[in-house]
Amino acid sequence: MGGFSVFEAMERYQYEQIIHMYDQATGLKGITVIHNTTLGPALGGTRIWNYASDEEALVDCLRLARGMTYKSAAAGLNLGGGKTVLIGDASKLKSEAYFRALGRYVQSLNGRYITAEDVNTSTKDMSYVAMETNHVVGLEGKSGNPSPVTALGVFHGVKAGLQQKFGNSDIDRYTFAVQGAGQTGYYLIGYLLEGGAKKIYFTELNPKHIARMQQEHPEVTFVQPDDIFGLDVDVFSPCALGGSLNSDTIPLIKAPVIAGSANNVLLDEDVHGKMIMDRGIIYCPDFVINAGGIINVYHEIHGYNRDNALADATRIYDRLLEILAIAEREHIPSQQAAKVFAQQRIEAIHQLKRTYIPR
Ligand code: NAD
Repeated sequence: MGGFSVFEAMERYQYEQIIHMYDQATGLKGITVIHNTTLGPALGGTRIWNYASDEEALVDCLRLARGMTYKSAAAGLNLGGGKTVLIGDASKLKSEAYFRALGRYVQSLNGRYITAEDVNTSTKDMSYVAMETNHVVGLEGKSGNPSPVTALGVFHGVKAGLQQKFGNSDIDRYTFAVQGAGQTGYYLIGYLLEGGAKKIYFTELNPKHIARMQQEHPEVTFVQPDDIFGLDVDVFSPCALGGSLNSDTIPLIKAPVIAGSANNVLLDEDVHGKMIMDRGIIYCPDFVINAGGIINVYHEIHGYNRDNALADATRIYDRLLEILAIAEREHIPSQQAAKVFAQQRIEAIHQLKRTYIPR
């Protein structure tokens, strides 16, 4: 394994368990990582990827599982962090038996880990997993499309960013630039329009998504992808792909608030988190503001109710205000403050569980 030490990584980041699985009959080959279960069962999706090496797959799975611990903790959920990566070409591997084999591995963890769909897996694939285990969420006919819930959470995150910057979160006072009008950006723009946004600009690469917006909301102005960063607006909302905030784009941004759905939007968390802070821009950390999706599936575990899930997503507003206050008080980038916030919650609940209370 070259210079990479599994146990060193486990010790440094306090991973609980790593499971390697190989099912010869179906070709299922992969890794489940359980990072931390202080708050509850480790939840994280299953992705299939053609990794160049086993080590690359492991490193990715370790990173993603840890990210899930922070995400759920900061979202106030009673969940830990975990992830599964399956190695290979999704188009060749997928079958009923393949996913049922996965389901049997998930079941063998006896509820310590709950899986869901992710990159290259679908709700249909998860329905096969569900034939072998109950520890799977995001199923067809249950919590449904998470994107409107994610977008609602982002909308309330936008309001928190505005509140922190201007001391007022009335949407009708402000202007917005939304990058990406796909699943989440589309719904976010809908919420902003409902809130009476003064002006909204959007950009897109997909002609169908451009046409949909122009037909449904002609008052929302299209700009070319490269022009979205430098607009003179109050909020820049990245709702496209990761890495869009980097050394080239951050200097262009005029908006005093950045708040959007995109995951891993900072190309380099440390470098670009600090660059944004140094420019005096309020940045709503990605894994906090976009937690609506996981909040939505979490509700599936306890019997799904859409209204409860939506109400829970609106609480992203309060949590972001707490996190932005930590960032200001400690003079640290908000992404780092969000991790402090998550760790504090894990530690507090860990302390709480020291006393045995039978239920
Ligand atoms: P999506 O694919 O439906 O939408 C993204 C859109 O961005 C696409 O329409 C694409 O054409 C457009 N796009 C890509 N690059 C662009 C560019 N350079 N300029 C302009 N437009 C560009 O995806 P989504 O579900 O809306 O997710 C968006 C982001 O939010 C992703 O990073 C995703 O991981 C994250 N996220 C989504 C959810 C959810 O519930 N869907 C939950 C949490 C996080």
